[in-house]
Amino acid sequence: MAVKEDCIFCKIVMNETKSYCVGENVLSLAILDINPFSEGHCLVIPKRHVLWWHDLTEEENQSLFSLAKATAAKIKKVYKPDFVAMYARGRRIPHTHIFLVPTFKSDPLDRFFNALEGFQESPDMLVELKKSKSLEKTAAKLRSL
Ligand SMILES: [Zn+2]
Repeated sequence: MAVKEDCIFCKIVMNETKSYCVGENVLSLAILDINPFSEGHCLVIPKRHVLWWHDLTEEENQSLFSLAKATAAKIKKVYKPDFVAMYARGRRIPHTHIFLVPTFKSDPLDRFFNALEGFQESPDMLVELKKSKSLEKTAAKLRSL
């Protein structure tokens, strides 16, 4: 299993540092985020050191998202949030991780995404992208691959 010595998530996978494991399968691990947005905020990580989720192998991808879904089901059962938000990062800690955050109306994460939607509606450069001609061009670029 490829690990990186100075990576905190690799150390967790190797059991070299304390973590709060909430679930595991062959290729992935679900742990509590130690800087939670809310109680029950979890991270799901591949056991192999991979920077971005889209660089995972097909087997790792299935493992990671399967564990994410199972973990979200646990969060939903325990905390009864409106829903469990999911997003993938790898920037601050360069080992891809899926955030699973129990989300309630008007909590900090909800307000953050509402603010982001406000941002999305205002800049001129994004207004251009909403036009039908731009959307057709963008879809054609992605379809062509
Ligand atoms: Zn790592």
